[in-house]
Amino acid sequence: MSETAHLVICGAGIAGVSAAYHLAARRGVKNIVLIEERAPLTLTSDKSTECYRNWWPGPGNAMVRFMNRSIDILEELARESDNAFQLNRRGYVYATADPARIDDLKRAGQEAAELGAGEMRVHPGPGAYRPLAAEGFEHQPVGSDLLLDPALIQTHFPYLSPKIVALIHARRCGYFSAQTYGMYMLERARECGVRLVNARVEKIDTYGGRVGAVHLSNGSKIETELVVNAGGPFIGEIGKMMDLDLPVYSELHTKVILRDDLRVTPRNTPLLIFIDPQYLPWSDEECELFVQDTETRWLLRELPPGVHGRSEGGASSPYFLMQWTIHLDPVTPQFPIPLDPQFPEIALRALSTLLPGLERYFGRLPSLVMDGGYYTKTRENRPLVGPLPVQGAYIIGALSGFGMMASAAAGDLLAAHIVGEKLPDYAPAFLLSRYDDPAYQKLLASWDQSGQI
Ligand SMILES: Cc1cc2nc3c(=O)[nH]c(=O)nc-3n(C[C@H](O)[C@H](O)[C@H](O)COP(=O)(O)OP(=O)(O)OC[C@H]3O[C@@H](n4cnc5c(N)ncnc54)[C@H](O)[C@@H]3O)c2cc1C
Repeated sequence: MSETAHLVICGAGIAGVSAAYHLAARRGVKNIVLIEERAPLTLTSDKSTECYRNWWPGPGNAMVRFMNRSIDILEELARESDNAFQLNRRGYVYATADPARIDDLKRAGQEAAELGAGEMRVHPGPGAYRPLAAEGFEHQPVGSDLLLDPALIQTHFPYLSPKIVALIHARRCGYFSAQTYGMYMLERARECGVRLVNARVEKIDTYGGRVGAVHLSNGSKIETELVVNAGGPFIGEIGKMMDLDLPVYSELHTKVILRDDLRVTPRNTPLLIFIDPQYLPWSDEECELFVQDTETRWLLRELPPGVHGRSEGGASSPYFLMQWTIHLDPVTPQFPIPLDPQFPEIALRALSTLLPGLERYFGRLPSLVMDGGYYTKTRENRPLVGPLPVQGAYIIGALSGFGMMASAAAGDLLAAHIVGEKLPDYAPAFLLSRYDDPAYQKLLASWDQSGQI
């Protein structure tokens, strides 16, 4: 069985779906085949925490401009669909209980402002703090609000620990139903002629350094001159089919969805992030138990910052999401992912430092669902979007922990590369060929911020 296609996209996660949408629905490209071995959007793209932010560190402002573009497109799609995917603008709140970290928050706010995320307002200060709006995304503040008065913090975030001494509320941020957003783009792409084929890409033929054909697990062969690698955690494997060794690796990240029947978690929250490293609040008996076992002793050490969580669903929903990654070692992706049964209790203890209401569940976890997936990433945590060194081959990947929020700008950028449009000025920052530049390699040696939470 042999057929021809103008372009074949390998993988229908959010990256492949967004690429298909931006090519077919926004640019009128015909004869696109989207190959997916599972159901679309079910490997990593339905496991995310579904948050977005324009709050990214440097060096340079490529990530901020890229994410601002992505959020612009998300907002356009939300408007045209009557907000079918419930985009909100509740923000991200980074909180500390350590007075010594207040300067870090100030610096982060100033840096974000310099990079284009919007100005920082300090409270108490000349203007009043504008609380978040639970629903919608229009007419909301941008930039950030730095709250330095614990009483003011308790007024607006009464569910946070009274130990929180400062927080910064980044405003062009929030969350949305990312699966619905993906399905919305997939439907538009299919209406514009994109053909979804349920099969595995097994082999890619190249002739004289050019793409020639894609072989599928159903025995068919698609002759094509254009291939997009959108394989998520398998972009490395798809790269190898074209003899390319892509500079990516994967980390396992797990999240927990708690069913909070005791109603101790707040509703309509921003994404809440605790920026302090911490010792977990174990009882004396638990400490005695853990210290005796080499497998559990690490639970008594100081653990990294970054535990985060948010409410899920409307005012009457009992669900609350928690995410925290303690072990960041590179791993080989395997499915189903390995799940650590200790993780929910560990994440709960960590988040209780920020949300003391969770203490009610210590040692008696409520019913919950645990899932997760892989952050497949480059070493500096920036994506790969653009041509590969085989003619006709492209990539949209290494979307790490930001693929849902970045997918709109990434799909748009990839489509611009493929149809030969003028590229946005952030495009070079995401090319694979950036690693060929000695100045970039030098910059990488001193790169110390990833923006990952
Ligand atoms: C716990 C967790 C929380 C996260 N939270 C957020 C968040 O809050 N905000 C955010 O923006 N991002 C978040 N992310 C990141 C986001 O989910 C990912 O960046 C995104 O889903 C990656 O999309 P993808 O399309 O590249 O990969 P995937 O969704 O994995 O899609 C790749 C697809 O390619 C298919 N495929 C691979 N190889 C082949 C082949 N040979 N043949 C056919 N099909 C193939 C796979 O079956 C898969 O469906 C989170 C991720 C995790 C794990």
